[in-house]
Amino acid sequence: MDRFVPRDDAALALQSHRELANHEDPSVIASRAATWQSICLRDAPYTGLMENFDAIVIGAGAAGLFCAGQAGQRGLRILLIDHSAKVAEKIRISGGGRCNFTNTGTTHAQFLGENPNFCRSALARYTPQDFVDLLKRHGIGFHEKHKGQLFCDRSAQDIIDLLLAQCELGRVQRWQPCAVHDVACVDSLYRLQTDRGPVQARQLVVATGGLSIPKIGASDLGYRIARQFDLRVIPPRPALVPLVFEGSRWPDYPALAGVALPVRVSISAKAGKSREQAFEEDLLFTHRGLSGPAVLQISSYWQAGLPIRIALTPHRPGGESLQAALLAAKSVSRRKVANELAQYLPARLAEAWTLTDAKLQQAICDVPDKALGKLAQDLSQWELLPSGTEGYGKAEVTAGGVDTRELSSQTLESKQSGLYFIGEVVDVTGWLGGYNFQWAWASAHACAMALSRSSADA
Ligand SMILES: Cc1cc2nc3c(=O)[nH]c(=O)nc-3n(C[C@H](O)[C@H](O)[C@H](O)COP(=O)(O)OP(=O)(O)OC[C@H]3O[C@@H](n4cnc5c(N)ncnc54)[C@H](O)[C@@H]3O)c2cc1C
Repeated sequence: MDRFVPRDDAALALQSHRELANHEDPSVIASRAATWQSICLRDAPYTGLMENFDAIVIGAGAAGLFCAGQAGQRGLRILLIDHSAKVAEKIRISGGGRCNFTNTGTTHAQFLGENPNFCRSALARYTPQDFVDLLKRHGIGFHEKHKGQLFCDRSAQDIIDLLLAQCELGRVQRWQPCAVHDVACVDSLYRLQTDRGPVQARQLVVATGGLSIPKIGASDLGYRIARQFDLRVIPPRPALVPLVFEGSRWPDYPALAGVALPVRVSISAKAGKSREQAFEEDLLFTHRGLSGPAVLQISSYWQAGLPIRIALTPHRPGGESLQAALLAAKSVSRRKVANELAQYLPARLAEAWTLTDAKLQQAICDVPDKALGKLAQDLSQWELLPSGTEGYGKAEVTAGGVDTRELSSQTLESKQSGLYFIGEVVDVTGWLGGYNFQWAWASAHACAMALSRSSADA
């Protein structure tokens, strides 16, 4: 038998909000969030009765928590479900434990997907400054590290506590761990079969993220729900991920694992899209290939069969070309080529590179000009063909996802009325540097506003 619980009293949520807003002390907020977390983690008894909410959010990660909190604070009765025991694990491990929670330079240009313009609307309506203001209100310290990237001073846990506090303000109910076994839409109501029994709502938000890092809870549920309702999904693929190489020249390089240097890396998309994408960042050699920010960035644009190009000496002191520097050295130096090169490259890389050509293993004064010219050119246009990526186990994000043509860019509602997709499950993928969290906050915010409007209209 269905039991319909009346809509929550928005005044209660508002009162709780005012109380908390008066407590600017972050330790008070954190301790209340922790208490609430332990209450929510306790197994709720299964009554066998159908519970009713204004909206159900699946996925208590960055986007799901933020959306639930925002919608709850607008008086909606929200249920947040996650199959993991721990909340927001990706936030906890992000940014080396300090969470690069946004980037002050965020625009739609730092995102990829079939429609790179799709994210414009949500990003414009919830900006990095909005999230920064929220952090300031909660007294959370942060700093800029590199190119507009903002990190917590203390720990990523501060962001998790902030989101939990926001959910508490919104009196969000959270079922965790709780698996979702079935989703159906009957008479415009979404009915879910879960570990804790059946539950229903007029609106369903899917915030299940991508497939990256399966060991902390990633699953394909979001894509399955989309397909169930005949919504297209752009094939997911690992992104912001190290690249691996096999065969030609590469066998010499495992010994370089750990070597890092600043480079320019670029790729040109095939099939008529000749635009080059390039990044100037650090490169890191690994046991199986290449990583570091430069390669993580370019990996999001990489497809099987496409070569990448790396300029190993992108900027040289004084702007002098490497070729000119080597020819100048030739006239005055008797040192080995590797030793001369070590002024411009890490010594281990210079040594390994020159080992590939017998002509380069002698004193620089004995090397023909042509060979030095070719060396300089090869180092500035190292073209190599990745054999693959390290896969979802190492990928920071998943590119592809729910096709944006199926979604409203204003509300994130799909063509299936009442069904929304937010965060990484959508075919919107940000560069490295805080953009993915900004998309999570912005898409969650746009969706929460829409949930609230739609509930008011109902
Ligand atoms: C190691 C690492 C570091 C990162 N660092 C940064 C960074 O510093 N800055 C940045 O901007 N981005 C970073 N990212 C990317 C960022 O974490 C994600 O883009 C962001 O978390 C996406 O938010 P989301 O809410 O869409 O998904 P998630 O945060 O992944 O949340 C999805 C939630 O859904 C739940 N879920 C999944 N399947 C089910 C199911 N079947 N049933 C119920 N619940 C389910 C999961 O348990 C999870 O809690 C990093 C990612 C990784 C892996």
